[in-house]
This record gives sequence, structure tokens and C-alpha cells, in this order.
Amino acid sequence: MRRAFLSLGSNLGDRVEMLGAARSALIARGGIRLAAFSPVIETDPVDVTDQPQFLNQVLSVDTHLSPHGLLDACLGVERAMGRDRSAGPRRGPRTIDVDILLYAGLSIDEPGLTVPHPRLAARPFFVELCRAAGAPETWLPAPVAA
Ligand code: ADP
Ligand code: MG
Repeated sequence: MRRAFLSLGSNLGDRVEMLGAARSALIARGGIRLAAFSPVIETDPVDVTDQPQFLNQVLSVDTHLSPHGLLDACLGVERAMGRDRSAGPRRGPRTIDVDILLYAGLSIDEPGLTVPHPRLAARPFFVELCRAAGAPETWLPAPVAA
């Protein structure tokens, strides 16, 4: 089993319900066990600022899945929950976003998968949520300007 940290984000619909449904759907897929979770916090949108506030949470999971297998699971949960990427701009409103922030302390830079997640270093609140979910300090990227 390997430890990974996933971020959940929602700023459309019943956001609390969206996060809960994403947690349940991830666990239901098999090969993923929930180890710990951060508090849920409300955050201002960053890139496209003219949109509702987000709820964000970080989950610590133990998984048998490879990094790409875990990404497929994250994207599958988004699809199953009806996220429609064609419905708006890339950084625009979304019912649910599930990203891999950290995976086993590894650095991965491959087509379609970058770990640690590129936005982690630029968003201190994500780093704090990772800490709250028990992420080892040595896995966390050094802070950079947004
Ligand atoms: P956002 O970057 O705002 O999360 P999307 O959820 O639409 O936007 O991201 C889409 C793509 O980002 C995915 O298809 C995936 O291939 C890619 N991606 C690269 N690295 C990661 C990662 N660490 N976690 C999640 N998606 C990633
Ligand atoms: Mg995403």
C-alpha cells in the first residue's frame, strides 16, 4: 500500500454533498482506503476569480493503485458525478474536482500527470490541508509565488 493525498474541490451545487459523494465514490472503487482527512475549508477562486467560492478538503488514502491508476480513479469519480469538462472554462466552476496532490513522496512529470500537483506550492491553504491530513513535511513542495 502506498500513501497519497487527494484534494477535493467543489463550487457548484450542494458543495458539502459533493465532497461527501466524492469520498464515498473513491472508497467504493476498491484499492483505495481512507486513512485520514483534513477539515473542509472555504476558499476564494484563484485563476478565474468571477465564480463562487470553493469548498476544499484533502484526503489521505492508502492505495494499491499506481499513480496513473489512482488518477484514473479520480477522473472516473468526477465523470460518475456528472462533471462536464466541456461545459465551461478550464479553471471555471465545477461540481467536483479530484486531484492527486502527493503520492508516496514521489516526483512525477509525465503527460497527463504531474506530482506533486503543480498548484500545491502556489496555494498555501492546500499545503496546510495536507499537513492537517498528516502529510510528511519532506513530501511537501517549497512555497513559490502564485
Ligand atoms: P484542474 O487542473 O483545474 O484540476 P482538470 O481537473 O480539468 O483541471 O485537470 C485535467 C487534467 O489534469 C487531467 O486530465 C489530468 O490528466 C491532469 N493532471 C495532471 N496532473 C494531475 C494531478 N496531479 N492530479 C489530477 N489531474 C492531473
Ligand atoms: Mg483536476
